[in-house]
Amino acid sequence: MPWGPRHEASCALDRSSADARSWFVIYLDHNATTPLRPEVVEAMTRVLRDVPGNPSSTHALGRTARGVVEAARDQLGALVGAAPGKIVFTGSATEANNAALHGAAGPRGRGAHLVTTTIEHPSVAEPASLLEKQGAVVTRIGVDSTCRVDPDELAAALRPGETALVSVILANNETGVIQDVARIGELAAEAGVPLHVDATQAVGKIPVDVGALGASLLCGTAHKLNGPKGVGFLVDAGRTPSEPYVRGGPQERRRRGGTENVAGICGLGVAADLARQELGARAARHAALRDRLEAGLRAAMPGLRRNGVLDQVLPNTLSIVLEGVPGDVLVEALDGEGIAVSAGAACHSGSVSPSATLLAMGLDAEQARGSLRLSVGHGVDADQIDHVVKTLPVLAERVRGAAA
Ligand code: PMP
Repeated sequence: MPWGPRHEASCALDRSSADARSWFVIYLDHNATTPLRPEVVEAMTRVLRDVPGNPSSTHALGRTARGVVEAARDQLGALVGAAPGKIVFTGSATEANNAALHGAAGPRGRGAHLVTTTIEHPSVAEPASLLEKQGAVVTRIGVDSTCRVDPDELAAALRPGETALVSVILANNETGVIQDVARIGELAAEAGVPLHVDATQAVGKIPVDVGALGASLLCGTAHKLNGPKGVGFLVDAGRTPSEPYVRGGPQERRRRGGTENVAGICGLGVAADLARQELGARAARHAALRDRLEAGLRAAMPGLRRNGVLDQVLPNTLSIVLEGVPGDVLVEALDGEGIAVSAGAACHSGSVSPSATLLAMGLDAEQARGSLRLSVGHGVDADQIDHVVKTLPVLAERVRGAAA
């Protein structure tokens, strides 16, 4: 049942504390982060141990490290339909999103026009707000009650010759709802506006192809697909101005200076390769677990509402609203039983301010507070789901009673 390393090594983890519980959890928070696949750990360990060189060095050790980085670029390119030469490795998807927005708006100066949505991850929403403060004009397109953007409404906001970038999240981190980005890409191309896609939650869960989406820019991160934390990527198809994101050395075709995280990049490559080979089977397995979870919870809690329409949602994600049950309190109660889930975005846990995405869908603050995100992934099985189906409704009633 557990997710977690069984070996002795630990960094800051105090195993005598309550944190030790986290070694034996039913982990239904795979949209927050995912466990490393053993194949990834093995490959990264080999690189950490046996590949000490700097990829920029011309000697044999350097060439070996370079080979590791370029092999990973090939593996990732094959997963997302990108020419390897168009991929820039970054430290996170947050960095890649910042680079995309600042890169597109920067050269246009203070008057740049950007189009985005009201349900973006903070790593898009925050740089957009900063650019707005600096004089850019930002148009934010809303969503309907199912968390979907209307591509025609978005297209109507594009100003040909003037809009520097349209930035759209492919799959929302909280609801898992997938946008019709291929249609948005067609309309953006007709208007001559480059499209940036935050595909962070989608890569490794559904097919993602840069060309099919019509994306000029697309980003993701290793830790959402069973790779390591701290490694992201930006596919830059080259139709936008190419200022360096991080100024320094010549790494990453001069786009992002800094010695590459060779082991981390290797981990991303291996994770991408596994995702490419397993995508269909993985999605089917996760959807079956997710649907078993939803059916079980519905049977026990008739008032349950799902956010998003089933066939427009990531196969691993179930976002629900339990009216009258404060989600943050329920998350804590579940945590006490060794079940890890999230109320809204995990990055916001600890704060009870209602989720911007759920408010954008028309939920009121009370409903948004009653929302819970359960996301399955590698290591989850039917027995775990059945245990959650038995436990969650009991705890929800207890929390509802205490809150009343
Ligand atoms: N975009 C989305 C949609 C995400 O879910 C996340 C991670 N929560 C990010 C961007 C940021 O990814 P990273 O953790 O690599 O910065």
